[in-house]
Amino acid sequence: MQIKSYWESFVSILFPPLCVSCENVLLYQEEFICTTCRFYLPINDHYLFKQNGITRRLLGKAPIDAGAAYLSFSKSSLVQAIIHKLKYRKDQRVGKYLGRCFGIQLLASPFYANIDVVVPLPLHEKKKQIRGYNQSEYIAQGIAEAMSLPLNQADFIRVKNTETQTKKSRVERYDNVENAFSCVKPSVFENKHILLVDDVFTTGATIASAARTLAEQCHCKVSVAVLAIA
Ligand SMILES: [Zn+2]
Repeated sequence: MQIKSYWESFVSILFPPLCVSCENVLLYQEEFICTTCRFYLPINDHYLFKQNGITRRLLGKAPIDAGAAYLSFSKSSLVQAIIHKLKYRKDQRVGKYLGRCFGIQLLASPFYANIDVVVPLPLHEKKKQIRGYNQSEYIAQGIAEAMSLPLNQADFIRVKNTETQTKKSRVERYDNVENAFSCVKPSVFENKHILLVDDVFTTGATIASAARTLAEQCHCKVSVAVLAIA
């Protein structure tokens, strides 16, 4: 332990850890995000209310019980920098760390008190191979760890390798992700309360399709937790 911390100190002199948002050198005991960036981080209070930006946008599209986004995307370029790092620069530690922060927040809410299992929004196997990882899995790992809940990354999969959603219209996005997901073993989730986790919520088309599939195939209750809402 002592040797490890000497080594870590030595490495951190050569390569000091930087804030994922502003890239200033982190001070002792700062983790991933510096104190200044943390102060300005647009953290939502969605976890306190059943009606919020997430549940309103999913109304009539998916039968969800509760929903929350930890951060707001538009208010701050801080969040943009964090998401970029998580999504394109493979910094899985940031995802797990923010997942833990989100999980601690959700623990304070009555709406997430009876969650049975945390499930990340799956990527299609081919896409995961190309990217090398699924960023939602890291967020889900952090949430599960903070809430002391089991994590299931195996029994809910993406069966349709959809094209990217970014250049599609709202209607096209909904068609594109229809029947994109499937439960491998529906009995695993039967009568459970599932917390479905994703990174960024835009139109909600993808997470709505996933939540519908879970509810229909597994007769379970679904709530959603996304790291940031755009
Ligand atoms: Zn910073």
